[in-house]
Amino acid sequence: MTQKILVTGGTGFIGSHTTVELIKDGYEVVIVDDLSNSKIEVLDGIQEITGVKPQFYQFNICDERKLMDCLKAEQIDAIIHFAASKAVGESVSNPLLYYRNNLVSLMNLLDAMRQFGVGHMVFSSSCTVYGQPDQLPVTEDTPFQKAESPYGHTKQIGEDILRHVATAYPELNSIALRYFNPVGAHESALIGELPIGVPNNLIPYITQTAAGLRDELSIFGDDYDTPDGTAVRDYIHVVDLAKAHAVALDRLLKGANKEGYEFFNLGTGKGYSVLDVIKTFERVNKVKVNYKIVERRDGDIEKIYANTDLANNELGWKAELGLEDMLKSVWKWQKHMNGKSY
Ligand code: UDP
Repeated sequence: MTQKILVTGGTGFIGSHTTVELIKDGYEVVIVDDLSNSKIEVLDGIQEITGVKPQFYQFNICDERKLMDCLKAEQIDAIIHFAASKAVGESVSNPLLYYRNNLVSLMNLLDAMRQFGVGHMVFSSSCTVYGQPDQLPVTEDTPFQKAESPYGHTKQIGEDILRHVATAYPELNSIALRYFNPVGAHESALIGELPIGVPNNLIPYITQTAAGLRDELSIFGDDYDTPDGTAVRDYIHVVDLAKAHAVALDRLLKGANKEGYEFFNLGTGKGYSVLDVIKTFERVNKVKVNYKIVERRDGDIEKIYANTDLANNELGWKAELGLEDMLKSVWKWQKHMNGKSY
């Protein structure tokens, strides 16, 4: 029988790419999203790629009543939980929004899972849980530093909640996936990242500058202790990330997980500086990106990249796409977007 997966935040950036992979793998997908940071048209993109339009509910998971009604109506086998607020800077200025939105939603989901006998969750975590680690690359055993932002703290607490819940209720299994820097777009350019307003993240800022929508990219600091002075990150293609969710889900549904709560780093294991990214983008797409060097951005760490051995060996998953693939796909997506009203 077809298994039915609830994807919260399924019209978002990673959620939409994961939905595509799940449909390809033969799952039925039900999406819940409040559309606070995504567009309903994303469903059309998913349909164009897969031939299937997922069932869609519009509400915020903090609304316990609507969530319970949804789970009552659908016979859900597992949940992939993306729905969350994710802007680090905004979390500093509006911490209560972040603690409520990211944690009340998680607790509501876990309550609903217990009530309706749903035993599996894949949870969106982040490399932010590590802060600036003392040693690189970061393994899953690297201790968490004190969170720099309320956003990062919600991910640390979210993981603690899942760990404690798995201990208390053995029927409730979860896997947290700690994403490094997700970028890229589907090769069809029918879905991608849809930043609303001025982008905070590097890649959409680069593509919008190259497209002439922004005058100039600001590079936040060139005096870090890195080869060229700009900060280093582990960028991972969103399609690789989406595939990792399908693998984690399969592991839970098969009962192949070794613990009730497991966690994995998802990155490529390679660190690239901001200047590496800009130069590679210019080279592979034959376009120019105007930039200037400005002060460091508050809260940014110097460098981080993943050790991905655990995901490679335990999940049997490995990132297949490299920086050039990522940067070609985002430019194709940006050009596609320029012709759209949103
Ligand atoms: N960055 C930058 N200019 C921008 C946006 C980002 O120089 O307009 C840098 C940022 O300082 C960091 C890297 O690009 O070193 C990745 O930032 P992003 O916000 O994409 O992700 P983060 O690592 O902060 O989650």
